[in-house]
Parts: sequence; C-alpha cells; structure tokens
Amino acid sequence: MPQIIDGKSISAQIKEEVKEKISALKAQGKTVTLAVIQVGADPASSVYVGNKKKACAYVGIESLAYELPEETTQEELLSLIGNLNRKEEVNGILVQLPLPKHIDEDAVIRAIDAGKDVDGFHPQSVGALCIGQPGFVSCTPAGIIELLKRSGVEIAGKECVVVGRSNIVGKPMALLLLRENGTVTVAHSKTADLKEVTKRADILIVAVGKPKMITRDYVKEGAVVIDVGIHRNENNKLCGDVDYDDVAPVCSAITPVPGGVGPMTIAMLMYNCAEAVK
Ligand code: NDP
Repeated sequence: MPQIIDGKSISAQIKEEVKEKISALKAQGKTVTLAVIQVGADPASSVYVGNKKKACAYVGIESLAYELPEETTQEELLSLIGNLNRKEEVNGILVQLPLPKHIDEDAVIRAIDAGKDVDGFHPQSVGALCIGQPGFVSCTPAGIIELLKRSGVEIAGKECVVVGRSNIVGKPMALLLLRENGTVTVAHSKTADLKEVTKRADILIVAVGKPKMITRDYVKEGAVVIDVGIHRNENNKLCGDVDYDDVAPVCSAITPVPGGVGPMTIAMLMYNCAEAVK
C-alpha cells in the first residue's frame, strides 16, 4: 500500500511552528494582525473565513473581520483596502474570493499592498516567484511543497506534471516545483493526450476541479500523487480530483481527501502572516 501523505498532522506541525514564532515576536513587543474582508454571505466563503479566524486565534494572530454587504461597491472596497494598507498595525490583508460579479477581482488584488499580500495573489508576488526573488507565495501550492518535503519526497531531478493552470494553484505550483529543481510540465484542458503526459510523472499534482477524473490509467506505477480538488459527491461525502481507491494501489504515496492538501492552505496562510512582520 502507498504512503498516505498526512496533511492533517503536517499542517498541525506547521501551525505549532508559527505559534512559537508569534510568541517570540510578542516577547519582542510585536503583534501580528490579519485583516480578513468578506463581501456578501456566500456560505462556503463564510466557512473558509471562520476557519481562518479560528486558526489566527490558535496561533496568536489578531484578526480583524470586515463583513461587508453584497451590494458593497468596488470603490468602497478599494477605499477600505487603502485604509488597511496605511495602517501600520495591520500586517496582512486577505480578501475572500470569489467576489460578487460587479467587483473586478484583479483590481482588488492589485490594490493590496504587496508587503501585506499574505494570499500571494498580487502580480508583484507572482512576478517575484517567477524570477526567484523573495515574496509571498500562494498558500495551496506552498503547502504542497511542504507536504512533499516533510514526507521525504525528493523533488530535484524528478518529472513533475501539474494538471491545471489556474493563477492560484496550477501556475504557482509549476514555478515552485521548478524552484525545487523538478522538471516541470503543465497540462490543461487543451492538452492533446493527457494520459500520455501524466503517465510520465514521478510527481503528479492534480488541480482540475473535476471529481475523480484521474484514474489509475493516468498514473505511472510508483508515482507520488497530490490531489488538490475538493468536491462533495452524491452522498455528501468529500472527494478529490483523483479517484483515490482506484489510484492508491499503483502509486508510492498519495494525499487523501479530506486530510491531504486542504488543511495545508490555512497553515501556510498563518506562516505567511508571521513572515509579513519581518
Ligand atoms: P480552476 O477551475 O481555476 O482551474 C482548473 C484547471 O484545470 C484549468 O487550468 C483547466 O484548464 C484545467 N482542466 C479542466 N478540465 C480539464 C481536463 N479535462 N483536462 C485537463 N485539464 C483540465 O480551478 P482551481 O485551480 O482554482 O482549483 C482546482 C481544484 O482545486 C478545485 O476542485 C478546487 O476546489 C480545488 N482547490 C482546493 C484548494 C485547497 O485548499 N485544497 C485551494 C484551491 C482550489 P484550462 O485552463 O484550459 O481551462
């Protein structure tokens, strides 16, 4: 049977490390504050925001919650971000996505001071990642690198295939694997022969947003498989983009859903907040 990569315990370990960092900062008289902005009351967003606030409380980060009504205008939101940018005591600013349709998400992301961009979505953060300079890294792909390293998976020299090219997962994931000296291929919906590409992977990262799309015929024997997807199936149970039961017997290591990549995103957000103080 494969190694089960345990995101629950690795994320708990990272949160403990952040907690220690925060208490060391407190001992130097420095507090860490994250401003979390939610526009509208999308139930999934409310759950994510609630979990972020809980994690902040656990590691000792102050959180400021801004729950704005659905009809908030773009100008109002940009003005709030401007105020938070100017507040010295605010170290990180997070705008929960998706935003209502009348608000331009790119304009909102660009408005956040890059020094407070703890989600790592600002073009300056992405550019820094691209040219190998320090900056905030998008939490989900940063968490996947931690999962791999802390599970003893060597990345350097390996064939890495990322399925999906979104700005928040696929693209930064590919850049991070490259930074770790992997040989990286990015596949997407226009890839001609997906199975032929994914079967080359020693490390296969799947972020397609399609429940159980990746079956064993996409996977090389002995590969490490990381499943980013989160879905609810017909029985209201969580599942990923990978058909776990089908794939697990052929791979050397795999992340489960739930309990794999999911818990890492918030842990890395906490990590980024602590880094924002420096
Ligand atoms: P997006 O929908 O933004 O991107 C999906 C990507 O998959 C696109 O690049 C798309 O290609 C590609 N794709 C879609 N269908 C196929 C196909 N049949 N074959 C090959 N490629 C395909 O999704 P995200 O990146 O935001 O998220 C992906 C999944 O990860 C979702 O299930 C999401 O819920 C989950 N997620 C989980 C997180 C966590 O914390 N665990 C955090 C973020 C996301 P193209 O560009 O050509 O359209």
